[in-house]
Amino acid sequence: MEEKTAVSRNFIEQIIDTDLAEGKYETICTRFPPEPNGYLHIGHAKSILLNYGLAKKYGGRFNLRFDDTNPTKEKTEFVDSIIADVKWLGADFEDRLFFASNYFDQMYEAAVKLIKKGKAFVCDLSAEEIRAYRGTLTEPGKESPYRNRSIEENLELFENMKNGMYEDGAKVLRAKIDMASPNINMRDPVIYRVAHMSHHNTGDKWCIYPMYDFAHPIEDAIEGVTHSICTLEFEDHRPLYDWVVREVGYEHPPKQIEFAKLYLTNVVTGKRYIKKLVEEGIVDGWDDPRLVSIAALRRRGFTPESIQMFVDLCGISKSQSSVDYAMLEYCIREDLKMKRPRMMAVLDPVKLVIDNYPEDQIEYLDVELNLENPDLGMRKVPFGRELYIDREDFMENPPKKYFRLFPGNEVRLMGAYFVKCVSFEKDEAGNVTEIHCTYDPETKSGSGFTGRKVKGTIHWVAAKSALRVTVRLYENIIDESKGVYNEDGSLNLNPNSLTVLNNCPVEPAFADAKPYDSFQFVRQGYFCVDAKDSREDALVFNRIVSLKSSFRLPKAE
Ligand code: ATP
Ligand code: MG
Repeated sequence: MEEKTAVSRNFIEQIIDTDLAEGKYETICTRFPPEPNGYLHIGHAKSILLNYGLAKKYGGRFNLRFDDTNPTKEKTEFVDSIIADVKWLGADFEDRLFFASNYFDQMYEAAVKLIKKGKAFVCDLSAEEIRAYRGTLTEPGKESPYRNRSIEENLELFENMKNGMYEDGAKVLRAKIDMASPNINMRDPVIYRVAHMSHHNTGDKWCIYPMYDFAHPIEDAIEGVTHSICTLEFEDHRPLYDWVVREVGYEHPPKQIEFAKLYLTNVVTGKRYIKKLVEEGIVDGWDDPRLVSIAALRRRGFTPESIQMFVDLCGISKSQSSVDYAMLEYCIREDLKMKRPRMMAVLDPVKLVIDNYPEDQIEYLDVELNLENPDLGMRKVPFGRELYIDREDFMENPPKKYFRLFPGNEVRLMGAYFVKCVSFEKDEAGNVTEIHCTYDPETKSGSGFTGRKVKGTIHWVAAKSALRVTVRLYENIIDESKGVYNEDGSLNLNPNSLTVLNNCPVEPAFADAKPYDSFQFVRQGYFCVDAKDSREDALVFNRIVSLKSSFRLPKAE
C-alpha cells in the first residue's frame, strides 16, 4: 500500500519529498505568478491548482504574485479579473497577494551588488548589436567592448540610467557570465533596460525596469518560495535563474521546476489569440462562452469542481501534448449530473393538442427534480390540453426503430400520460404545424398503470404556462479538422460556433433561475443562466455541454 502511494506521486511531488527529507527546506512555498496582460485561461487554471494543491498537500504556503515588471501592457482591469478567477477556483492565497513591482528597490540593490562583485556591467551596444554579438547555437558569442568597464564606472553609469540620463535603449545592464556558454541565455544576458514609461503601480518613480529572467528569481527568493514551478519553455533559463539567486546571495535559494503546458484541441488558449478574437469583435469579450478563459468557462456554466477534476485527470508531465476538449466536457457532466435539476425545455417547438383533454383544465403533476438524486426532491409541472414538443419528436413517415410520435403511435409524455397521435396539420411549405393526440387518463405516471407498454417517452411544456427563454448553443470556435490556421495566417473559424434560439418554451419552474444557475434540459444537455445578458423576465441560457459524449475515461490499469 505504502509503495503504491509513492509510485503514484507525480514528479514534482517526488522532488518535494526528497527536498523535505534532505532538510533542504522545512516547509514549502509555491506561487502563481501571472503577468497582468490578459485574462487567465484553462492553462493557467492548471498552474494555479497545481501550485495551490501542492501547498495545501504539504501544509505550506501559496502566494499570488503579479509579475508586473513590464510597464507596457499591464492593466488594472486584468489584475482585478485575475484575482477574481483565482478566488473562484478556490486557490486560497489568504493575505499573500504580492506585486513584483513592490520589489523594484530590492531588485535595484541586487543589480548594484552584482556590479560591485564584478558580475554585471553597463553596455552601450544597441539591441541589434547585442543580438549580433550573441552568436548562435553552433557558434560562441563575442564579448561586448564595454564588458571590462571598471566597477566604479559601472556603478556611476547604472545610477545615471536610474536617474533618467539616457534615452530608451541607449544603455542596458548586463550580467557578466560567459559569451562562450553553450546556453545562449548565459551569454551576458541583459538584466536591466531603460524605459521611460509610467508603471501602473510605481508611476514615474522608475525609468529602468528589470528583465524577466533577473526579476523572477529575485521575486521568488524575497517571498521565500521554495519550488518555483513554471512551464517547459523556461527550462533553458534555469541555469540563469540559479546564477541569479546564487550571485545575489540568497540563503535559501528557490528551485525552478518545469512542466508541460496544457493545450486543448479545437480551442484557442494563448492570450495573444484570444485578444485578437476580442479586438476583432469575433467574440463578445474575454468572457465569451466559446472561449476557455476562466471568466468564459464560469459564464458558460463550468464549476470550479469540474476544472479541478479536469486538471487532476490531465496529470503533470514533462512532455508536450494536447488534451481533448471532450475531457473537459466529461468533467462538467460528471460534476453536474447529481447536483442539478433536470427540467423540460423545448428548443424547436411544435404544438401538440390533446383533443380529449378538458379545454380549461390544468393539472399540476409531481415530477422528480433529478432521477439519480432523490434528495433534490420534486417539482410541480403544469399540464394542459395544449403543449409544445420538440419537432424532432414527431415524424410523418418514421424510419424503423423510431419510437417517438407518428400517426397511430402511442408514447409517454414524460411524467404525465400516454398520448396517441390521431392526426396532424401542415402548412403550405410542408412543415408540421400542429399534432393532434388523444390521451388515456388511466396511464398517469406514478399511478401504477401496467395495462400496456410504450417504447418512447418524450418531453413537453404546457403552452399556456410556458416561460419563453433564449437559448444559445455552441460549437468549437476553431474548426480544427481543417487546421487551426488558414494559409494567410488567420484563424480558421467555425462559422457555426454560435446558434441563438429565441422564444423557447420552458417549464414555469425556471422563473426562479438566477445567473450562473445550471440545469439539465431533458435530452438537450446542461445549460447555465447567462450572467451577462439575462434579465429577470428574459432569461438567456448557454449550453454548457450536450449529454452524449464519445469521451471515455481510460481504464485504470
Ligand atoms: P500565454 O502564453 O497564454 O499568454 P503566459 O505564459 O504568458 O500565457 P503568464 O501570465 O506569464 O502567462 O503565466 C502565468 C503562469 O501560468 C506561468 O507560471 C505560466 O508558466 C503558467 N501557464 C501559462 N500558460 C499555461 C498553460 N497552457 N498550461 C499550464 N501553465 C500555464
Ligand atoms: Mg507571459
